[in-house]
Amino acid sequence: MKEKLEKIRSEALAKIEESLDMDKLNEIRVAYLGKKGELTEVLKGMRNVSPEDRPKVGQMVNDTRAAIEAKLEETKNAFAAKMREEQLKAEVIDVTLPAKKTKVGHSHPNSVALDEVERIFIGMGYEVVEGPEVEYDYYNFEALNIPANHPAKDEQDTFYINKDIVLRTQTSPVQVRTMEKQKPPIRVIAPGRVFRADEVDATHSPCFHQIEGLVIDKGITFSDLKGTLAEFAKELFGPETKVKFRPHHFPFTEPSAEVDVTCFKCGGKGCRMCKGSGWIEILGCGMVHPKVLRMSGIDPEEYSGFAFGVGLERIALLKYEIDDMRLMYENDDRFLKQF
Ligand SMILES: [Zn+2]
Repeated sequence: MKEKLEKIRSEALAKIEESLDMDKLNEIRVAYLGKKGELTEVLKGMRNVSPEDRPKVGQMVNDTRAAIEAKLEETKNAFAAKMREEQLKAEVIDVTLPAKKTKVGHSHPNSVALDEVERIFIGMGYEVVEGPEVEYDYYNFEALNIPANHPAKDEQDTFYINKDIVLRTQTSPVQVRTMEKQKPPIRVIAPGRVFRADEVDATHSPCFHQIEGLVIDKGITFSDLKGTLAEFAKELFGPETKVKFRPHHFPFTEPSAEVDVTCFKCGGKGCRMCKGSGWIEILGCGMVHPKVLRMSGIDPEEYSGFAFGVGLERIALLKYEIDDMRLMYENDDRFLKQF
């Protein structure tokens, strides 16, 4: 019996010694200490041991079991330590690697252009005001001298919420709201989002931005308008910039004009940017129509004023030489971070 136990013990210890992983250790545990293991078989043979020898043999079986368990435990710990070490080696931190950069947000070209335009007009004493994007038909059209049968009211151009409420098609309703609220002198710009039922292409979007300007005071004339916009163009596109006023028609101004600036790229000689003409159209403007003044509670006999509207995207596209308006709305980081 004693020999048998010693044989089991030395065999088990040798096998543990040779084992290479946890799985093998478990196999050995089952083979020797399990319910059908070799040591258990020996215990079953206790029946044949004389009663006086039983305590001694029992002690020997326990010692054997303890020795095997101790060796298993020791080897298991060694394996665990080795695995941890290997893991640490594999996960070692290379402190010489460059750190991950935190991405910091960036102003959109529209915002950069708007900041610039606001800076110029605030410098001339203007106040920045805002108005609602969901607007009454009255403010968007009627109060701006655009009667019910006017083509600008065509449902193809305007998003109607219902027959009285629209998504504003221009920032001009802010003119009316300002005149209703404020007594002249008025000197404001109103930047904001506007909406038109346009298909998306390189120069159109159903949602874009305008900046409206309005000045009302006693004795305001067309030459004030010209001087203001000439100064604006110089500030925005450079001191050599010249402006040209072409007669035009807008329902809410009379007389009305469209304004071109000399091409800042070629200085007016003609290039790809200005399509060879030397001029680039930038905005529409005019003297506020007496009917518009009167509807907003301002006496056109006492006061006069001018208004202008400029597309913010148009400024940004020109200034940064972007040839496709769609780029402005795609949120492509590679595009946006250039400005
Ligand atoms: Zn040019």
